[in-house]
Amino acid sequence: MSDSCIDLVQLDATDDPDQAQHLQRWLRERAWTRAAEAEFKAPHPTTSESGLLRLTDALAPKGMQLLRNEPRGEIAVTITSGWRAYTATANYEPPACPACGERAEPIIGAESADPFIEVVGSWWETRVAPEHTCPLCDHRAVITDWNLDNAVACSSLAITAEMYGAENDLRQELEGEFGGQWATMHEHI
Ligand SMILES: [Zn+2]
Repeated sequence: MSDSCIDLVQLDATDDPDQAQHLQRWLRERAWTRAAEAEFKAPHPTTSESGLLRLTDALAPKGMQLLRNEPRGEIAVTITSGWRAYTATANYEPPACPACGERAEPIIGAESADPFIEVVGSWWETRVAPEHTCPLCDHRAVITDWNLDNAVACSSLAITAEMYGAENDLRQELEGEFGGQWATMHEHI
């Protein structure tokens, strides 16, 4: 099992149980994926949750030719439906403010905890995206308006694959089709 992968997280997904099948159909129609020939093992390095629906296909030639490294066999593309938190783990970066663009690091030794972690806690528990205030410019915005790439995001729909080199093209097509806000996590544990 690999210890790194990429998650494309849809930040404004609904709880619709059909959304995973809908996304799987769309990925196949757009030739991003096809039914897998191999039996894939656990698709996600941090998988330990129950109650999640997972559909796994294989990356199709369109995605394979974008990969930075020569793949050894099929690449699993897993759709996860169900409430879950995604983070880049060792590649973590603080969220980037939509106004000033800065990624404010928490102040080491500060008495209060990192406010972003509190925001994520509330998001996780309520399933409603809370607001977050930029510690540098005081801009306040709902957390899904921030750039959450490689930070933390809660969502009920994501695509996970070792698709290094193909992730930006796929995300662009997803944004074009489904709109909304997305985050990319380059997970490494
Ligand atoms: Zn700011």
